[in-house]
Amino acid sequence: MIKVQPLFLEPIFQEKIWGGKGLEDKFAYKIPHDKTGECWAISAHVNGPSTVENGPFSGKTLNEVWRSHPEVFGHYGGDTFPLLTKILDANQDLSVQVHPDNVYANLYENGELGKTECWYIIDCKKGAEIVYGHNAKTKEEFIRAIENRDWDKLLRRVKIKPGDFFYVPSGTIHALCEGTIVLETQQTSDITYRVYDYERKDKDGKKRELHLRKAIDVITIPHIDADNKFIVTKYKNLIITTFVENDFFSVHKWKIDGIASLTMDKSFMLCSVINGNGFLRGEEGEYSFNKGSHFILPAKTRNFEISGNCELIVSHL
Ligand code: ZN
Repeated sequence: MIKVQPLFLEPIFQEKIWGGKGLEDKFAYKIPHDKTGECWAISAHVNGPSTVENGPFSGKTLNEVWRSHPEVFGHYGGDTFPLLTKILDANQDLSVQVHPDNVYANLYENGELGKTECWYIIDCKKGAEIVYGHNAKTKEEFIRAIENRDWDKLLRRVKIKPGDFFYVPSGTIHALCEGTIVLETQQTSDITYRVYDYERKDKDGKKRELHLRKAIDVITIPHIDADNKFIVTKYKNLIITTFVENDFFSVHKWKIDGIASLTMDKSFMLCSVINGNGFLRGEEGEYSFNKGSHFILPAKTRNFEISGNCELIVSHL
């Protein structure tokens, strides 16, 4: 009988033309490049699977555990672990992009999932912005604006600050902009349709491919703003902020100061420490964690404690 332990995960880093050294500066990660853009922190995607660091599954990828030990995840079902947590360092502007929904991705992208995502702004420079939505009323207007390269008029920009949260459903045109570090929770998918890349060239002098036809297929026109109503609940030594709860995922922030008692009533939970440090204590033992640690609480966790002075972003289905 394998004991139920949290699965601490080792992240994978991805080089991006817009990346930088922020993940090392802010999280003390050992990054492989000066242009590291993404930390795939809790990932079972083939393009960057994370590896379990502790316990009986040590050395196995998350997807291997998902397939061979479904009981760890409460027999949730499905071929692949459905969620993906990343930390992104937008040292420069990311391309303006859009993702398909499940139906479109299944039809046109070899059965992949669509990509609905959301962002918790961990840190950003003063006056930082994101691209979120557009101003076209009709598809014709949208296409005309692209043909005329009328980007400033077409794209909506929103000012951001640390602690903000944005829900980015599939079909929403979006981009992180320079000077922003975010935690992204998303469906397990790596399908992006690039709409505009600022005419940038990579180190080989090549522009990255655009995917305008597919993008125009999937963009929500006119843009619909997600109505973000956050729910804040206070417990002893614990404040839970619920940012979003829907069919794709639920995302919360746990702010802990002291010893907090919690209960796990989901199939599994993804936890990312974005500030501070502390201890996780369950029936199976005690585990220390730091800013930048990521772990999954398995199905049989039940009651547990977290002590310390820390903030975690927690997601589940
Ligand atoms: Zn995206």
